[in-house]
Amino acid sequence: MANELCLKNIHLEKSWTLPVYESTDGYKALRKILTEKTPHNEITDILKAANLRGRGGAGFPAGLKWSFMFAVRDKPGPKYLTCNSDEGEPGTFKDRDILRYNPHAVIEGMAIACYTIGAQVGYNYIRGEFYEPIDRFEAALKEAYNAGLLGKNVLGSGVDIDIYTHYGAGAYICGEETALIESIEGKKGQPRYKPPFPAAYGLYGKPTTINNAETLASVPSILNNGAEWFLNIGKPNNGGPKIFAVSGHVNKPGTYEVPMGTPFADLLDMAGGVLNGGKLKAVIPGGSSTPILKADIIMDLTMDYDALSKAGTMLGSGAVIVMDDSTDMVKVLARLSHFYYEESCGQCTPCREGTGWLTRIINRIYHGEGRQEDLDLLLDLTKKMGGRTVCALADAAAMPVSSFVTNFREEFQYYIDHKCSMITA
Ligand code: SF4
Repeated sequence: MANELCLKNIHLEKSWTLPVYESTDGYKALRKILTEKTPHNEITDILKAANLRGRGGAGFPAGLKWSFMFAVRDKPGPKYLTCNSDEGEPGTFKDRDILRYNPHAVIEGMAIACYTIGAQVGYNYIRGEFYEPIDRFEAALKEAYNAGLLGKNVLGSGVDIDIYTHYGAGAYICGEETALIESIEGKKGQPRYKPPFPAAYGLYGKPTTINNAETLASVPSILNNGAEWFLNIGKPNNGGPKIFAVSGHVNKPGTYEVPMGTPFADLLDMAGGVLNGGKLKAVIPGGSSTPILKADIIMDLTMDYDALSKAGTMLGSGAVIVMDDSTDMVKVLARLSHFYYEESCGQCTPCREGTGWLTRIINRIYHGEGRQEDLDLLLDLTKKMGGRTVCALADAAAMPVSSFVTNFREEFQYYIDHKCSMITA
């Protein structure tokens, strides 16, 4: 579709190669910036005007984030860029498609970011299990180096930019920016207490900017086409297109890049509708940590930061998990809670102990050993976990529990009363 950006080349043969990328304006923005020595604040002004919000989950404005580096940009000493391609949230599989089909957009976005923030080195932190995306990204890096688009004196500009791939080892928490930094440094992937934020004390203790792969891959097209173009694709305060990774009970699961603000009903149609003509029960709209919405609520919503936030959930990473009316919500929550329990790094008591309590209580309900007080106990626990920890994993573990129990309390109660599922009874 005309509004595609990060996945715009996906239908072209060998879309991941340099000649194909360059045939669709690839590296045009980087060439222009380096030739004209575009002032760094002009670049962030465009990104701010475009209202490019971080595509990794938090939605933080990218231009503003880059401008945090300006205080140190021209001072001596290393600065770093890191690209977050770790993508560990259950349901999320968009960045791997960008790396697989359009890796040069990530490289060009990273190179532009390096120039803008004054970093000489960028690391792309890619989930280690992404074998094909890693191979494609590595091959693209080689092409870029061979073409003089990376390395010493890029395109004769006097600017040096080196980009390396760093493989993650499958820990969800390494998608958290400071845990990612620790992991690149070769340490255990545990989040750091903030402040200081990475712009002040990041990789190897130096000023660092971290952006998601989709965010960086969006930058070249915005600079080529202008802020207005990007803003007009979406809706006010929610500019541009967004990739939604649609999974679960749909006929055509996959990645769909659509304008921000697309009605959920349209996205569901693109994904072929509910599997086998089934009835929609609920949707997790932005990755497994975002609160679930019942069918009647989500069918009236548009897919953007503001609409989903107003409905009490989040756009998150854009991972849309669709569930039909055969779904056992207790079973789903048992699986999700176990994931967060396994992935807690263990350094904060409310998270380490809280995720364990949540998963044990939900599992005992699921196995027919639930107690009458368990549902209130679960809700109480979630309140005591949120906002008290070093990173947001405790909140990420608590949010699905409170939203599942609140929205589908009768199913949980049925398990406690009858020791079996209301769905299969
Ligand atoms: Fe680790 Fe959990 Fe604390 Fe995050 S909230 S730092 S994952 S223990």
